Amino acid sequence: MAGFPIEYASRINALPPYLFATIDEMKQRAIARGVDIINLGVGDPDLPTPAPIIERLKLAAAEPRHHQYPSYDGQLSFRQAVANWYKRRFGVTLDAGSQVLTLIGSKEGIGHVPLAFVNPGDIVLVPSPGYPVYPVGASFAGGTPHVMPLLKKNGFLPDLQAIPKDVAKRAKLMFLNSPNNPTAAVAGKDFFQRVVSFASEHQIIVCHDAAYSEIYYDGRRPPSFLEVEGAMDVGVEFHSLSKTFNMTGWRIGFAVGNKDVLAGLGKVKSNLDSGVFQVVQEAGILALESDDQLTDAIRKVYQERRDSLVPGLQSLGLEMEIPTAAFYVWVAVPRGYSSASFTAHLLEEAGIVTTPGNGFGEAGEGYIRMALTTPVERLVEAVERIKKAGF
Ligand SMILES: *Cc1c(COP(=O)(O)O)cnc(C)c1O
Repeated sequence: MAGFPIEYASRINALPPYLFATIDEMKQRAIARGVDIINLGVGDPDLPTPAPIIERLKLAAAEPRHHQYPSYDGQLSFRQAVANWYKRRFGVTLDAGSQVLTLIGSKEGIGHVPLAFVNPGDIVLVPSPGYPVYPVGASFAGGTPHVMPLLKKNGFLPDLQAIPKDVAKRAKLMFLNSPNNPTAAVAGKDFFQRVVSFASEHQIIVCHDAAYSEIYYDGRRPPSFLEVEGAMDVGVEFHSLSKTFNMTGWRIGFAVGNKDVLAGLGKVKSNLDSGVFQVVQEAGILALESDDQLTDAIRKVYQERRDSLVPGLQSLGLEMEIPTAAFYVWVAVPRGYSSASFTAHLLEEAGIVTTPGNGFGEAGEGYIRMALTTPVERLVEAVERIKKAGF
C-alpha cells in the first residue's frame, strides 16, 4: 500500500511560531552541562493541592454513581457551590442553572467560546502580551485576532479609544484578563465600566479571564467584571480552580455570566466533550466551600516570595511594577537587551529560566516574565546570581 503525505489543515499551518523553542533548547543544554537551574519560567504552582481536597476526591472515587458520564453542563451541586462562592466573594447573585457552566479547566472554555459566536472574517479583540489561547481560539473559529497592546503608559490595560472604529464595528468578541498574565496588572471597576459601555455600543461579547482572581496580595481583592452594572448583558467571566487551589492537573473551571453566551458555549461543548469527572466536581465543591481557609495559606506563600524577589531585583537596578495580584513579575529588560537576549543572558550566565515577554505577543517585547512558583530560598539565590552575573 502506498503512503501519502500527511498534510496539516491550514488552521494548524497558520499557528504562530513557537517562540519558546530557543529558550527550551538552551535550557536542555544547560541541564545537560549539569547547571543547577532555577526555573522562574513556569506558570504552574509548585505547591501541592491542599489535603482536604484530595481526601474528598478519594471518598468520591469510591462511589459507583460517579463513574458514569457526568451531566454536560456540570452537576447542579457544583454549579450551586460556584454561585454561593460568587455571592460571598463578589456580592453577585447567579442562577446556578443558567448562569454557571462547568468547564474542563478555563482554557477549554476560552478556546471553545469563539466557535459559538465567531464567523469567518469576524474580528476578535485580544490583549497583547497575553495568553496565547485567545488569538489561537479566535483563528481556529475562522476569526481574525486584532491586538490590543498592553502598555506601561496605560497601566498595562487595553486602550479602548485606540481601537479603530471599523475594527470595533467588525469585532464580535473581546478577551480581557485581570489579574493579568503576564503583566500582573489588575483592572478596576472603572475600567470594566468603560468596557461595558464600549461593548454595548459596538455589540461585542466580552470574555473576561479571571483565572488569577484569588491570587492577590496585601488583602487587595481584585473585582469581578460582573460586579459592574450592565456586565451581565454583554459578557461572561472565566474562572479556574487551577491557580486558586493548586489544582492545575485536575482540569476544572467554570464560566459565569450572560446566559445566552453560556448556552452558546454549552452547545459547542456538548458536541465535543462530556463534562468534568464527577469525582473532581465533588472535590471542587469542597474547595469552593472552604475558600479562604485554604486560599489564605496559598496567598501567604506567594506574598512572601513576591516580597523577597521584587525588592531583590529592584536593588540590582531592574525596573518593574510591584505586583498586587497573580504570581508573575513583569520585569523591563535593561538597556541594551531585548526580551530574547536578556532571557538568554540570565540562562547562560546565571542558570535562571525566565520567559521572554515577546513570547506572549509583540507588545511584550522589552520585558521578561518571572513566575513566583519557586521557594523563597531559590528566589534569594536567583537575585544573588543575577548580581554576580551583572547585566
Ligand atoms: C493558567 C491560566 C488559565 C487557566 O487554565 P486552566 O485551564 O483553568 O488550568 C487561564 N488563563 C490564564 C491567563 C492562565 O494563565
